[in-house]
Amino acid sequence: MQIQSKLPNVGTTIFTVMSSLASEHNAINLGQGFPDFAMDARLTALVSDAMENGFNQYVPMQGYMPLRQAIADKIHFLYATDTDPHTQITITPGGTYAIYTALTTVLEPGEEVIVFEPAYDSYIPNIEINGARPVLISLQAPDYRIDWDFVKSRVGPKTRMIMLNSPNNPTGAVLREDDIWALQEIVRGTNIFVLSDEVYEHLIFDGISHQSILRYPDLIERSFVCFSFGKVYHCTGWKLGYCVSSAALMKEFRKVHQFNCFCCNTPMQVGLASFLADRESYLSLSSKMQEKRDYFQELMKSTKFTPLRSFGSYFQLYQYDRISDESDRDFAIRVTKEYGVAAIPVSAFYKAGGDTKTVRFCFAKKKETLETAVERLIKISK
Ligand code: PMP
Ligand code: GLN
Repeated sequence: MQIQSKLPNVGTTIFTVMSSLASEHNAINLGQGFPDFAMDARLTALVSDAMENGFNQYVPMQGYMPLRQAIADKIHFLYATDTDPHTQITITPGGTYAIYTALTTVLEPGEEVIVFEPAYDSYIPNIEINGARPVLISLQAPDYRIDWDFVKSRVGPKTRMIMLNSPNNPTGAVLREDDIWALQEIVRGTNIFVLSDEVYEHLIFDGISHQSILRYPDLIERSFVCFSFGKVYHCTGWKLGYCVSSAALMKEFRKVHQFNCFCCNTPMQVGLASFLADRESYLSLSSKMQEKRDYFQELMKSTKFTPLRSFGSYFQLYQYDRISDESDRDFAIRVTKEYGVAAIPVSAFYKAGGDTKTVRFCFAKKKETLETAVERLIKISK
């Protein structure tokens, strides 16, 4: 049988490539973004209780209602916005799925989506599989800020959506209030949708407040805002997240969702519904992750890597131009094989593979893991 590939230019995701290489070479995996420390035991206990108490059958396709209500309460508390859990919130099997579903809900062949690079690696294939075209805007080190005048110049009659990701993977950059004002000005009076990937919502550092789209009712009307329980609660393998939108957009989103996975697993939704009622469960996350960023950054001072600033997420970018002039992919592979530490080459986040001699390290790890990794990285010299 012959098959015509729908994604002819797509290979295996870099996260799988580097994680496989790391395990093959017994390397410390600071590549793919997942914690190696235990998640909150209160949450696993709540999920066990839910299973034992018989919460093991389908929930409605929109998600377990008490969880949707807990999310609406959290949105009200954090962003002073009222959302209707009946019509505006849907639980999804992870943030990636929420993003794919939102794109599939709105995109028609030939339409354009503005994507800022470096971009999380699912965005462009998700756009292309819907027959649409990414319009790429490249952001630059060290601060990866968006030039909104330039964005305006790339908006045209085919522009259907603008995709944002703050805190950003891989850069750790965050959007500020004036970024949102500029976005509001660009989309006002247009039919442009916004997809806001906020999976690192509760992992933002240095006292900066997260500029969620959910703070801005005029933007919610045109936005799909995507979240991941896996990322924020350190259980990436659970693959559970949610999407928040206007009632009108969510109605269409659910048409796609209900015939794809129908509903997500029940006991985890039941456990999370109780867990979220305790505000500390999310308010405490940023400072704990900031400690890890600071600890890693301090250790890395003994190496020849040059840090870029990370204001959020699990990640920090490091330039290695004082060590090697290899491509970032070759460098990351060699460091995994020869020194036993895996990282992600940042070119993987650019469609055209631009190479800025930068790699991404995940610092969401135990102290001992970070220490052993850095002991190894210290040994790399020119
Ligand atoms: N967006 C970004 C930027 C991410 O880093 C991730 C992490 N995997 C996701 C979306 C998806 O999260 P999930 O694992 O819940 O699908
Ligand atoms: N978001 C994670 C990362 O950036 C990986 C998720 C995945 O493997 N798809 O490392």
